[in-house]
Order: sequence, then C-alpha cells, then structure tokens
Amino acid sequence: METYYRFDFSPELLALSAKVEDKLSPRFAEIDRIARLNSQKVHYAFRRCAVSDTHFVGTTGYGYDDRGRTVIDRVYAETFGAEDALVRHFMISGTHALTTALFGLLRPGDVMLSVAAKPYDTLDKVIGIKPCAGSLAEFGIRYEQVELTEQGRLDYEAIEQALARKPKMAYLQRSRGYAVRPSIFVDEIAEVARLVKKVSPKTIFFVDNCYGEFVEQREPIEAGADVMAGSLIKNPGGSMAECGGYIVGKAELVERCANRLTSPGLGKQVGPSLGQNRNLLRGFYFAPSITGNALKTAVYTSALFGALGFDCSPAWDAPRTDIVEQVIFHDPAPLVAFCQGIQAGSAIDSFVRPEPWAMPGYTNEVIMAAGAFVQGSSIELSADGPLRPPFAAYMQGGIIFDTAQIGILTAAQKLLDDGLAEVPS
Ligand SMILES: *Cc1c(COP(=O)(O)O)cnc(C)c1O
Repeated sequence: METYYRFDFSPELLALSAKVEDKLSPRFAEIDRIARLNSQKVHYAFRRCAVSDTHFVGTTGYGYDDRGRTVIDRVYAETFGAEDALVRHFMISGTHALTTALFGLLRPGDVMLSVAAKPYDTLDKVIGIKPCAGSLAEFGIRYEQVELTEQGRLDYEAIEQALARKPKMAYLQRSRGYAVRPSIFVDEIAEVARLVKKVSPKTIFFVDNCYGEFVEQREPIEAGADVMAGSLIKNPGGSMAECGGYIVGKAELVERCANRLTSPGLGKQVGPSLGQNRNLLRGFYFAPSITGNALKTAVYTSALFGALGFDCSPAWDAPRTDIVEQVIFHDPAPLVAFCQGIQAGSAIDSFVRPEPWAMPGYTNEVIMAAGAFVQGSSIELSADGPLRPPFAAYMQGGIIFDTAQIGILTAAQKLLDDGLAEVPS
C-alpha cells in the first residue's frame, strides 16, 4: 500500500497489507454489486414517494403535519418492503427502538420467545433477565428462549416445538451482538417466518435488524418478518443521522409502537423533526454505499488480522449478513491494545486513549473505541469488546474504506509495537 503521509507503519506491515488486499478484489466487487442494487432500491423509493426539498423543512412543538417526517416513514417502508414505518430521531438508540416495539406489542401474560438464544446485552434489563425497574417482567410478560445448535445455528426443530405453544412473539436477533455465534442470514430468517406461519400464524415475528440493513439484497420483512427495528447511528442512518431509530412492518403493529412511543391516540401524528429531516433522508440515501464501505473494512480486517494469526469471524471469504467483524484475542491485553489502536487511527479524537469501563446496560466492563462525528456511531469505524472470555473485539463501521484502513493498520501496528503480534515471515 502506498502512503503519502507518514503514518509510521512498518514496511513489513505494509507489505502484508498489500498482499492481503490483492486477494480481496472479487470480494470487493461483490460488495459493490450489492451496494449498487440497494442504492437503486433507495433511489427508486425516493422517487416513488416524491421526496421534495420542501420535506427538509423541520417542525417544532407538537410537530403536527410534519410532511418530512411522513415522507421519511414512506421511504423506509417502501425500501424495506413494509406496510408502514416509524422513523424518529427521538428514539435514542437501537435499544430504545427495540424497547418501544417490545412494550408496544406485548401485554401482561404474553410470552416473548427468542429463537436465537439470548438477545443483545442491553436487552437483559428490558426483558427482566436481570431485574430492573420497569422491565417487561414487571408487567408480567414472560420470556423464553430457544438455544442454538452446537454449531451455533438456528435449531429449527426446537423452534417449531416452542412455536407450538403459541407465544405472542417470536424474537430473532440477526446480528451476533456480543455473542460468539454466527449472524443469521435473511434466508434463515425466511425459514423461521415459514415456521411461524405454519405452526402459529398469530405469533408476531419480530427481527432485531441492527447492523444488517443493506448487507444483503433482501431485508427480513421481505423474507416474511412482521416487524423489525434498528438504529440510525448504524447502517440506515448512513453516518448522517445524528441519532434515532426505526421500526417498520405491518401497519397495525407499527401503530401500536407509535402509541407506545408518544401516546395512545397521538401515535405517529406528533413528533417535531427539529431540523433532522434532511439528515435522515440524506443518510438513508447514502446508506447502501456507506454500508458497502463498512463491509470492505470488515473483510479487510478479517484478512489482515487472520494473516497476523488471530481468529477472525466471519472469515474474509465467508458470506456476510451484517457489518460486524469479530477478532478473537483470548487475552485482555491485545483486546485493549486493538481498541486503543483503532481510536488512535481515527480522524476524530485520535489523541484519546480508551479504557475499559462499566457502561450502563452492559454486564461486564466494556472497552470502546469510537473516533466518530456522531457520539457512539457504529457505522463509523468503531471497535468494542466486553472484558470477558474469549476477549473478542467487535469491530464495525468505516464510512470510507480508504481511511478506515488507516485505523485498522494503526491497530495492527500497535499490537506489533507492544509485542502482542508478529508479522509472519
Ligand atoms: C447495536 C445493537 C443493538 C442496540 O444497541 P444501541 O447501542 O442501543 O443502539 C441491539 N441489538 C444489536 C444486535 C445491536 O447490534
């Protein structure tokens, strides 16, 4: 790799990087192909929904008749193949969007069945797996889960048996979160949807789509999910949304979620956009391409750290359904060094040194590297990991591959400098 500016990368590391990049061209071409198709999908939705520059104007106060807010909902619904959408900058995070949907859709006595083992850490207290004031458990909503097979795949037989008990909701998390398990492909989601329709058609099939948007050609709703949710500071915000979350799906379900988010009777009719409409629309427009850059970053990281002798998942040449790359260190020191290296290689806050801390909502101490334009944005290059075995870094994002690569190389160089890795001879 040529570097014009001095980044203090050793010649050995740059040689390894060049060698790794050589084999990635077919992968990158495939990523470009999907990004192009998804960009066309979004472009088509904008035209079909007649997006206009008047939609960029924001409202304040109640936000009645916010035409921009309405068109954003239409564009999301159209793109994701859903009846309706609730896209709001005042859903603070993915967890908030998921929480809104869970409380919107579940009632006392209902069962929430997770079909892919335990969901993401921040949901422990939402569900009440860990006691917390205001959890679903406090409202008498019960939780069950189906474990994965030994290979970490969906256990369709066990899912079918659990569905026979007619739970109110079947819940599926597409991305791996902080678990060491493969992410779940849209084809697999389609198979679960088929089982739900066959065994318990009244069950609401809900997908946590965080990190999955625009990675494949098809989204979970198009594969038969009833409702799905995600974060705007991940893929669909295209790095330009300054905060927010979305819920899309069947109109009647989205309405329940809207009533939970604002108030019964107010639903989707209120909510000032406060000047965020342009960011949300522009971000969504860029999202397929930005997601492509994040995917290239993930594939490159997998190939480079694989070449340095670390276990990476997915492997660089494996198919993908999310933007997350897991680098497994089996030891805290290289995990911390990796995250510190990513931070040092960022454009923003490169001088900051992250340390592990007890983040709200997480069980173990977590170290997080995020040199981002938007705080905590993980469509921008970021890496984090809980300080627990197998001491894996979860790396994701990278809005421009060319500069994300600098971040990855900086992390690799830090491991080399600290004696925690070696370039193979
Ligand atoms: C990011 C993420 C969430 C939500 O996390 P926030 O930090 O609240 O946005 C939920 N599930 C998965 C799989 C995620 O990756």
